[in-house]
Amino acid sequence: VKHNGKNNFLKFEPHMVNFQQNKRKMEKILREALVNEQFVLLYQPQVYAGTKRFYGVEVLLRLRTESGVMLTPDKFIPVAESVGLIVPIGAWVIRAACEQGMEWIRRGYDPIKISINISGLQLKSIQFLSSVKNILEETGMNPANLTFEITESTIIDQSYTVLHVIEEIRKLGISVAIDDFGISYSSLSVLKNFPIEILKIDKSFVREMVTDEKGYKIVNAIINIAKSLDLRIVAEGVEDSTQLELLDELGCQFIQGYYISKPINEHEVSKFLPHRVAL
Ligand code: C2E
Ligand code: CA
Ligand code: CA
Ligand code: CA
Repeated sequence: VKHNGKNNFLKFEPHMVNFQQNKRKMEKILREALVNEQFVLLYQPQVYAGTKRFYGVEVLLRLRTESGVMLTPDKFIPVAESVGLIVPIGAWVIRAACEQGMEWIRRGYDPIKISINISGLQLKSIQFLSSVKNILEETGMNPANLTFEITESTIIDQSYTVLHVIEEIRKLGISVAIDDFGISYSSLSVLKNFPIEILKIDKSFVREMVTDEKGYKIVNAIINIAKSLDLRIVAEGVEDSTQLELLDELGCQFIQGYYISKPINEHEVSKFLPHRVAL
């Protein structure tokens, strides 16, 4: 039996054993992946809604297992968070993304905007800011080209610490985006109380805006709030031209989604990159 902290006893059910075993197995896989460089970054292009001109990329993490299968983050991020491995994995992501950004520049491409997902547990870890500073110094990455995406729920959960860290991130010159905007209950207070610059409309709203009149009006309202607060707006999960056109009409500046490109590797990104103009 397991004590659950209150005065009740939880019976240890078989599915809980499996969960614990799977978690331990995944933890081992994650530790090995850090050592053996099995983490892989994919990049999803973000474009201007009007011209479809390339703007930047969102970095999306994958884990290549020993058998060659590519695992998506939903399979391993929750375990990484629960065993504390999200901090070193997250630092690896930031470093690898900055190194790749510099590599594109070395190859003669113009610098692009690179957007990185940051877990709330990374923000809470005391070494986060110093590790970001080190990575900026060691890679030479210009912080003005970096954005950290933080989910709305993270911001709400630990508002005091997170507010401080977000202010420090901004001082470093890195932009902050609020990810999955609109799905929690206190979206508006987040906008009011946190110094964010970019708002990402969650893909569930984008999906519903075409089929549902109310959904359309909600996206319209979100875009209007963002505009009046001078925030940049990115719509994620754009899958067809109807969605793109509606978003553009409503004044959403940037879009991202399968309609433009699925997440791709660093070689495939090169095809999207604007070349430096020869002087
Ligand atoms: P997210 O930040 O909301 O990322 C968008 C997700 O939507 C990605 O899933 C992307 O592949 C998917 N997507 C892109 N375009 C479309 C589309 O047109 N339609 C649909 N239906 N989906 C689309 P992915 O790569 O599986 O990532 C899932 C989540 O994992 C991300 O959600 C993010 O929260 C998290 N994640 C990814 N990389 C990292 C990372 O490096 N660190 C942390 N902490 N979390 C990460
Ligand atoms: Ca994101
Ligand atoms: Ca999102
Ligand atoms: Ca999401």
